[in-house]
Amino acid sequence: MSRTRVLLLNAALGPLDYRVPHGMTVEPGSIVVAPLGPRQLLGVVWEPERMPSDAEVGDNRLRPLLAAAPVPPLGDALRRLVEWTADYYLAPPAAVLRMCLSSTSALEGARSVTEYRATGQVPPRLTPQREQALERIADRQGLIRELATIAEVSDAVIRGLVKTGAIEAVEVDIDSPYPRPDPDHGAPTLSDDQRAVADILVANVDARAFQPTLLDGVTGSGKTEVYFEAVAEAIRQGRQTIVLLPEIALTEPFLKRFHDRFGCEPVAWHSGLRSTQRRRAWRAIASGEALVTVGARSALYLPYRDLGLIVVDEAHETSFKQEEGVHYHARDVAVMRGLFERCPVILASATPAIETRQQVELGRYAELKLPGRYGVAEMPTIEAIDLLSQPPERGRWLAPKLVAAIQDRMEKREQSLLYLNRRGYAPLTLCRNCGHRFQCPNCTAWMVEHRLVRRLACHHCGHVLPTPRACPECQAEESLVACGPGVERIADEVTALFPEAKVAVVTSDTIWSPAKAAEFVGRMEAGDIDIVVGTQLVTKGYHFPNLTLVGVVDADLGLEGGDLRAAERTFQQIRQVSGRAGRGTKPGHVYIQTHSPSAQVMQALVTGDSDAFYAAETEARRDAGAPPFGRYAAIIVSSEDQACAQETARLVGRSAPQVEGMMVYGPAPAPLAMLRGRHRFRLLVHARRALDVQDVIRDWLGTLDWSPKARVTVDVDPYSF
Ligand code: ADP
Ligand code: ZN
Repeated sequence: MSRTRVLLLNAALGPLDYRVPHGMTVEPGSIVVAPLGPRQLLGVVWEPERMPSDAEVGDNRLRPLLAAAPVPPLGDALRRLVEWTADYYLAPPAAVLRMCLSSTSALEGARSVTEYRATGQVPPRLTPQREQALERIADRQGLIRELATIAEVSDAVIRGLVKTGAIEAVEVDIDSPYPRPDPDHGAPTLSDDQRAVADILVANVDARAFQPTLLDGVTGSGKTEVYFEAVAEAIRQGRQTIVLLPEIALTEPFLKRFHDRFGCEPVAWHSGLRSTQRRRAWRAIASGEALVTVGARSALYLPYRDLGLIVVDEAHETSFKQEEGVHYHARDVAVMRGLFERCPVILASATPAIETRQQVELGRYAELKLPGRYGVAEMPTIEAIDLLSQPPERGRWLAPKLVAAIQDRMEKREQSLLYLNRRGYAPLTLCRNCGHRFQCPNCTAWMVEHRLVRRLACHHCGHVLPTPRACPECQAEESLVACGPGVERIADEVTALFPEAKVAVVTSDTIWSPAKAAEFVGRMEAGDIDIVVGTQLVTKGYHFPNLTLVGVVDADLGLEGGDLRAAERTFQQIRQVSGRAGRGTKPGHVYIQTHSPSAQVMQALVTGDSDAFYAAETEARRDAGAPPFGRYAAIIVSSEDQACAQETARLVGRSAPQVEGMMVYGPAPAPLAMLRGRHRFRLLVHARRALDVQDVIRDWLGTLDWSPKARVTVDVDPYSF
């Protein structure tokens, strides 16, 4: 009898054994359907010796598998990545596997899917709901359920519209081929420096061996053009490439750029895809037909058939750290996937993380440098504005010098960018009469005023309420005042100063889809925007030759709270946003508004001496035993019931093992003591680099029993704490 072990897509379960019925053949990696109680679940066949099970079932009690999917089995490298991720990040293997099978269409043999779209016909009976639906759906397409979600109506409303002919069915072929990128389509003539670097990267692709490389070059040095040469080589060999981007908003400009270089778009993978697009992409990736996939971090867990290259662009970005579900760091997972697949991994960055530099120091990663900007473009000059000696006028946020510089750009018809990493109008709203502050009912956070949409919003859980006219506490009218600036308030200030200026606010509130990003790029290129006010969303990727001025409204913002990476992050963000200035033939200038111009990070930004900055930061980390010299893990205990959360956290704390080289701090209220209605306590584990912290934590938590009302999650290598 043939017995096989299956990892099911159910995070609460370990792997289970099944019988393989006659006529069915499976091998490790095969995707199968297995019975579990009355249910049928998707799972993957695994080698028993690599996936221990604690539920031993006798041969005679085994249930048979129900089906095997007509798709290629998951490769050995991907299964090793699942095992490694589960082990390293202390996550249930099934939760990791879910990312690999994120399109469960694997099983369906169907080659076409029925989607729906508006026809433009007006139904005979136009109810308000139908009107709303047709307005919101306009030029969208998708499954009934997806259209209903977009339109915020019930499925029945959409079905009704289909009957009237206002919405029609369209058959989408999910196996229709993707165009094949042409490696020689728009190949640029590289400079000598660029050529030398590109040659090495191309040779690495040819070598078909694991080789992590830090591609270190200032913004505008041509890192993208250079790694495109390696991508071209992989395409020539018919092997697959992943390009990871830190932000969906960057996908659209990247697709355009890729099209210019390779004559067609790559396959995109991100959370904004419709289910049909997802299915089509997943199948093409698994069959090996999709040669280049550009996507968010989850693209790392897809079943590529023959991976030849992995690129992580803007590799220093903190958004590569996943903070929900499986807490993984995509930059580090990318390197592991490269190791298992035996392919090169390129980490491109103008401001590499200290962890990455350390790997170079240790000789584990190679480093390739691009010394200067491509062509005639020079690095911008950076100047600090001391807010103490040159303060803005009362009630304003921009210092006179910065205002004068904007004025100058307006006269020259050049573009300016004001950077403030704070969405909305003001971070805090209070009643001038009674002092009432608006706090989120679900989180330890203030409600942020968004004036463009007249709402107060919590940036942690998404709770919103209409901005009230009167104070809910004392009923005073018109008494609410905004404290501090957000981007919308800066935009108001600029509009008041320059009434003729065309001002655009760029945040996740205004650029919430690839189409919106494309629209913004179009307006910038057409000169239809004079001044951009934006959050970190505008700091990366964009190339606007006529943008010559960058103003950092509050350079001190990121230093507040003083966590481990505060100075590094501030340095990276301001360098990145500075990199938007003067990318064409005109020189760029950057002003940094700060209360502490003599702080080391501000000095380093002004002088451009990043080596000195990194050296000092690295020393400070070494002294503190902080990463990369030591390690942290955060254990977060949460519950809707505060007492239960606290008790469980105490229980975890009391049971902490005594281990040489390891310290446990807490429990203490977590930095966000309440989040989405859950009370949170945190224990912080600090250990020597060499200690196997995961093993210690596994043993420690494995022996404990806690209330089902409490949840305990571990964040290995936490980012913000
Ligand atoms: P980075 O990724 O380092 O910021 P990019 O690759 O975006 O740099 O290059 C900056 C700009 O210079 C882009 O518009 C790019 O097309 C252009 N560029 C870089 N290298 C070349 C080249 N060899 N030939 C033509 N244009 C180039
Ligand atoms: Zn909230």
